[in-house]
This record gives sequence, structure tokens and C-alpha cells, in this order.
Amino acid sequence: MSSLEARLKSLMTLAQDDRDSATDRPLPPRLRHTDDVGALRPLNIRNLRVGGGRRRLLRILMTNACSYNCHYCPMRRDRNLPRTLLKPEELVRIFVGALARDWCDGLFLTTGIPGRPVKVMDDLITALEIIRERHRFAGYIHVKIVPGAEPSQIERITALATRVSVNLEAPCGATLSEIAPEKNLDVALAALEQARVQITRNREELRAGRPKDPLHPGGIAGMTMQFVVGATADSDDAILRRVSGIYAGGGMHHSQFSAFRPISETPLADTPATPALREHRLYQADHLLREYGFAPEEVVFDASGNLPLMHDPKTAWALAHPDRFPVEVRTATADDLARVPGIGPLSARRIVLERGGTVYRGLADLGRIGVVTSRAAGFITLNGRRLQDHRWTEQLGFWAPEEQAGAYHGLYEVSPGTFR
Ligand code: SF4
Repeated sequence: MSSLEARLKSLMTLAQDDRDSATDRPLPPRLRHTDDVGALRPLNIRNLRVGGGRRRLLRILMTNACSYNCHYCPMRRDRNLPRTLLKPEELVRIFVGALARDWCDGLFLTTGIPGRPVKVMDDLITALEIIRERHRFAGYIHVKIVPGAEPSQIERITALATRVSVNLEAPCGATLSEIAPEKNLDVALAALEQARVQITRNREELRAGRPKDPLHPGGIAGMTMQFVVGATADSDDAILRRVSGIYAGGGMHHSQFSAFRPISETPLADTPATPALREHRLYQADHLLREYGFAPEEVVFDASGNLPLMHDPKTAWALAHPDRFPVEVRTATADDLARVPGIGPLSARRIVLERGGTVYRGLADLGRIGVVTSRAAGFITLNGRRLQDHRWTEQLGFWAPEEQAGAYHGLYEVSPGTFR
């Protein structure tokens, strides 16, 4: 048994209440299948990058039972799967036990929806209240808002969490209903909007001097939203238009994209998997919108409205705008430098700050301040001199854009993006 397996097993024993452990009685039925459900078992420890640092989050799936029947999901109602459910007190015992052993420093809490969303939200809120108010845990907690919750529940859970998120799944109500018959995009957007307004108000009050309350951070880390990519006919253009429309209101941190995987015994079992590269390109385009000052209409799409797979979105933009290149390193603005493939906003600012007193002789000097010179070389000049005749993108012809080197083409039992 790996050390992770051993730790997860040990954590599950914490879920039993003291009376059960003392008498060595078998686990109650809802906990009996915790080892049988692979990646859908209730626990999962992951190192995640959060803000500037790294966090070890204990990811807890409160239940893999669900009364919804989403066509892409391994936890859907009609699929034969051992089901497990943690009560709020059990979930808290596991998390507090993991904290005490220094196996994690934060919590990611998600859930299936067995029965009414309002009841599921009550359980999530109860768990967070015990963690914050009884155990005085002031660290990072990310929790899912279940669409269909009462406004007062959304307000309460947002107040208790560091980050809240909503799974939108698709950018359009009509396509969402094709793959998730019980879900309603307007309901999910209304939940997101309520939390978003609360988070922006909370941030404004903090900026105005209201003291921080670490036990009620109020979603201060910003929200996320989640899309399943490729399960519907929605293009990347449609997804990014939805994303940028929501970003414009503030309070958001980033979006999450999960490439669709066909799951056995689901209505989409015969639908081809979405290339992982498409998911990656969406993350890159999302980054351009949030970090590089790109306007949504500047993102380059192919004739079908998708991001080109062959080039990352920044390179695709650069190749579509030959009039903007080459950029002269000695005189360009930080914004123009940040448009060069291989130069990020930090390197661009550093070049502008330092170039008055620094002599850049060539690519090696630029590499030392963080420029990815193999990508940037064909798009820049230094003192009027071209550093490379060809652009790196023109040298690479290893595989056709639609190919995925080493990709697994098969049917999945669970999707890598399920525990989300
Ligand atoms: S996506 Fe969520 S709501 Fe839909 S079946 Fe899966 S767990 Fe249930």
C-alpha cells in the first residue's frame, strides 16, 4: 500500500464515530464502499498552487451519490457504482485529523447531489461552521455552491469559505440541457452572480478598512467556474465569450476547463474524447484574458470557432498580426513586449525597468531575466538587429495539430476532471 493509500485509509477510519471504533462494529452502509470506487472515493490529497504559494489540500467528496443524471458524469444516477456518503461530522473529523497529522493545510470540498440541493447545501454549511467556529480553523477552504440553493445559504457558505465555485458545465442553456437534463444554466448563473456580488462587496469593505475576519473570509480568494469541454458542440469562442462576460463583473479568480472523457455505461460512452490539448489551449487563452490584458475579441479562433491546436493562443495572435512585429527590446512599451511570445508581463516590466542601466548583448542576457528566448527570438530585434531569421513556430512540424502524442483513446471508468 502506497503511503498515500495508507494515509487515506487511516483518514477514513477517522470518519467512524468513537462508539463504532470502540466496539469494532462494521462500518455503517454508507461508508462501506469507500475503497471500492477508485477515484470517486471520498478522499484525495493534492498539492495545488494557490495564490503565490503551494497548498496541500485535502479534497473531500461529501458523497458520490447523485439524483441527477448528467450524461458525461461517472456519478450519474443510473450508473452502477458503489455509493458512499460522509455526514458533516464525519467529514470534519477526517479533515481535522489530517490537519493534526500535518497531511494537509487546506480543504477542497465538493459533492454529488443526492436529493434536494437545499439539503446538500445545509450539510456543506454545517461542515464549514464546525470547522471554522468549533475548531477555529482560519485556513484555506474551497467549496462548491450547489445551484438551486436558497439565497441565504449562498450568502452563508460564501461568508465561511475562502473560495467558492460553481460548475456551469456549458456556456449555453440549450446545450447544457442536452448533456445535463436536470440542470439549468440560469439557475447556476444566478447562484454565481449572488456570490460574486457578495465577494466584490466584501473586498471593497476590506479595502475601505474593515478589519479582516479570518473565520469568515467571505470568498476573498475569488470565485472559479467550471466547464466540461467537448461534451457539447459549444465552440471555444462561445466558452470564452461566456467566461469574459462573467469576468467583467469582477470577483472571479479563474476558470476551470475539463476535457470531456467518455465514461463507460453513460449515454456519451461512444462520444470521442476531447483532446487534452484543447483544454490546455483554453487555459492559455484564459490566462491571456486575465493576466495579459487581451480583449476577448483579440483571441484568434479557427473557422470552427475553436482555438488553433497547433499554436498557443499568444503565438496564434502574433502570427495573425505581422504588422506588430518585430518588437524592439530597447524601446518598446511593457504592453508591447508582453505581446511577444516567450515574454510574460513580469519579464516585460523588468526589461522596461532595467534597460536604461543594462546592456543586453543577445538572447542569453534576455534569457537570464526570464524571457523564453527560443520562442521570442523570431519576434524581436535588439538595437535594430534581428536575433533569428525564422520564428520557432515555423520549425515545429512534429505532429499534426489534431494528433495527441501518447494520448489514451479508450473508455474511462471515471474522468480525471470528475473530482472538481
Ligand atoms: S455532474 Fe454533478 S450533478 Fe451531474 S450527475 Fe455528476 S455529480 Fe450529479
